[in-house]
Amino acid sequence: MSSFLAQARFRRDHQWAPEHMSAYLDEELAAQARGRMERHVGECPECGRLLADLRVILDGLHRLAAPSGGVDAARIAASVRLRLRGLAGGQ
Ligand SMILES: [Zn+2]
Repeated sequence: MSSFLAQARFRRDHQWAPEHMSAYLDEELAAQARGRMERHVGECPECGRLLADLRVILDGLHRLAAPSGGVDAARIAASVRLRLRGLAGGQ
């Protein structure tokens, strides 16, 4: 693969990855998309950091959800997803 194509792929994945991180962490992605995510975060420190941060946030939300019934946590998780989509769209 030429470096031009590799860069084009990288940019596409860089836009795609943030939009799909919450689904990835919830194990909702198909195997092919999971592989795409893992490849990209392996070669992109920015998305690697974002994914690590999101993992911490979602872990916290899941812990919060258990005692409180989960309604608020579900709303917060939805707003996190919306913000991630905004992030991805702004780049
Ligand atoms: Zn990236």
